[in-house]
Amino acid sequence: MGQDKTVWANPAEIIRQQQPDNPVIAFAPTVLQDTARRFIDGFPGLVTYAVKSNPEEAVIQNLVTAGLKGFDVASPFEIDLIGRLAPEAARHYHNPVRARSEIAHAVKAGIRSWSVDSQTELAKLTAQVPVEVDGKPVEISPRFKLPVLGAAYDFGSKFGASPELAAELLKEVAARGYTASLTFHPGTQCTDPVAWESYIRVAREICDLAGVQAARLNVGGGFPSHRVVGVEPDLTSIFDKIGETTREVFSADAPALVCEPGRGLCADAYALITRVKAVRDGTDLFLNDGVYGGLTELPIIGNIDRIEVLTADGEPRGEEISSRVIFGPTCDSVDRLPGEMDLPADIAEGDYVIFHGAGAYSTVTNTRFNGFGLMSHATVMALS
Ligand SMILES: *Cc1c(COP(=O)(O)O)cnc(C)c1O
Repeated sequence: MGQDKTVWANPAEIIRQQQPDNPVIAFAPTVLQDTARRFIDGFPGLVTYAVKSNPEEAVIQNLVTAGLKGFDVASPFEIDLIGRLAPEAARHYHNPVRARSEIAHAVKAGIRSWSVDSQTELAKLTAQVPVEVDGKPVEISPRFKLPVLGAAYDFGSKFGASPELAAELLKEVAARGYTASLTFHPGTQCTDPVAWESYIRVAREICDLAGVQAARLNVGGGFPSHRVVGVEPDLTSIFDKIGETTREVFSADAPALVCEPGRGLCADAYALITRVKAVRDGTDLFLNDGVYGGLTELPIIGNIDRIEVLTADGEPRGEEISSRVIFGPTCDSVDRLPGEMDLPADIAEGDYVIFHGAGAYSTVTNTRFNGFGLMSHATVMALS
């Protein structure tokens, strides 16, 4: 995971000067800081970062520099990572299922914000978590779910209580003296603002059913990154929809808003540089990275088509397109990108394929399966 001290102009310069044979993940801190400021300025509440999407220290540090004040953490490792790198920041422990030993670790670390989606897990929390830490109130947020709308990937299939159960949990949280809040996660890479609107309307119904005014409403992650050429994320419309809907449905009782983007913050600050190992008999393409490496997510949420193909001299390939099957380097037949991808027809062995917007769920899920996955990290001034 070593970060080279050199700062390159852009991925093309890395290719020209190094002609790397292993995948390189290129990070542009200025892009990350710009994105963070867009969230902080545009979102009508507190912005926290979902650490799991990319826990690299350089990411955490640049987010703090940009003014981020909170993090969504899911494990003792992430709790300690943020405790060390951003000791002043809020840590929301929003993995709703935890071992008792993990709860004990978090209590010791001073965690004051938790989520929950079942009676069994709430009972575990109330047995171990005090209602105040250092004189400050402890918050528990029932997490609820709706049938999926507009997301590339369904988070509700694993976590989230029905609205009825969420109301019971909210009532119990308040009765036990904790700060009662609500949280949801609309799914990842949600391009349609309506996904948030539906959830916020149901949040109001849950409060009414419970007879409890939620102190805060955490609208989750799910903010889109720029994965596909034709679909540029429109964060402003999403922020506006969240603010307007909250004011409309709660009016004077509006809870304070929190969001916890992962992908939306980090993905577009990175490009993944892969190399063409072979063009098998002029047809299928074999890259030096695939679904066990930095491209893990593609079979689940679809191809990134913001790609550039450069020669080893860093020159772009031609305009004429041909569709190719793309395989990764391992001997597993699952190691293939979905469908076919449109690439320059003159692509050749030794060329480079750069995947833009590849910073989320990529470096952190990279494996060394089959002896591949030795990925180097580089810092760039710009991504193109
Ligand atoms: C993964 C996760 C997120 C971040 O999701 P993105 O789609 O990357 O924004 C936010 N909150 C929770 C609870 C999560 O598990």
